[in-house]
Amino acid sequence: MVRDAEQLDVDPKDWPEERKGTRRPVPEDQFGGRLSDAFLLDLEVTEARDLAPHVRLVTFGSSDLVGFKHVAGQDVMIEFPAGDGRSVRRRYSIRRTDPDLGRLDIEAELHDHAGVGTRWIAGAGAGDRLHAIGPRGKIGLRSGCDEHVFVADDSAMPAAFAMLEALGPEASATGFFVTRHGPHSRPGPQPPASVRQVWLEEADLADALVQWWSGARVEGKALRAMSTGSATSSTAPGPRWSTPDVRRR
Ligand SMILES: Cc1cc2nc3c(=O)[nH]c(=O)nc-3n(C[C@H](O)[C@H](O)[C@H](O)COP(=O)(O)OP(=O)(O)OC[C@H]3O[C@@H](n4cnc5c(N)ncnc54)[C@H](O)[C@@H]3O)c2cc1C
Repeated sequence: MVRDAEQLDVDPKDWPEERKGTRRPVPEDQFGGRLSDAFLLDLEVTEARDLAPHVRLVTFGSSDLVGFKHVAGQDVMIEFPAGDGRSVRRRYSIRRTDPDLGRLDIEAELHDHAGVGTRWIAGAGAGDRLHAIGPRGKIGLRSGCDEHVFVADDSAMPAAFAMLEALGPEASATGFFVTRHGPHSRPGPQPPASVRQVWLEEADLADALVQWWSGARVEGKALRAMSTGSATSSTAPGPRWSTPDVRRR
């Protein structure tokens, strides 16, 4: 997230009026009252750049995001112009926020068959504006677990990465990251050291989970397949990256 250098040393309470937090709860008579604990957000793109050929990071800024609180795993529901005078809503997980500066990051998968949301994000640039509602969503970390397991495709990785980063240093967790783009094909999470990351293709997920569940080491087919980019090769060389120990504790 890009931080405004000149703002860093300024106490938020000393900010000019327009940078102070604004809070507009979703009115009770909208969405059947289901979103009354979320807020109306007027967002402006402050930065948009590709993290990988298939992933675009968009940073939004807004006074509505100053002091914004959310739980890792939650999302914002964004309204995109559909081009025919109407709009469509799409949800994007909150990758990270800076509530002091009023910033929020999303990471969007640029699908091959892009719809309204993906097309808008692919072309987004600084100064573009959108309406959104957030935070929303009931996905979050469960407390009191011995082990956390995440299975995420590229669309779900932002939520999984955010939750992994929110774990305490004592937590034990494994992330299975399912992608056709190759291991570490996008910036991963910066979680506590005890978190194991397994990048694999969808065809190898079931085997990997069974092996994880039975306490076996995930090595061999699943990781070899990803290391060569082929899910079917039986003559593939060994993994080019270190084999994570995904033994269940
Ligand atoms: C709670 C929640 C959180 C989400 N968080 C994220 C996030 O952080 N990042 C993110 O990229 N997306 C996320 N999504 C998905 C996102 O909301 C959109 O559905 C997605 O980006 C496609 O929107 P679109 O308008 O471009 O395409 P749509 O009009 O919805 O679909 C058009 C075409 O795009 C393709 N497509 C759509 N979704 C997928 C998919 N998941 N995999 C492969 N092809 C697909 C299909 O070919 C589809 O026919 C989330 C969804 C939910 C419900």
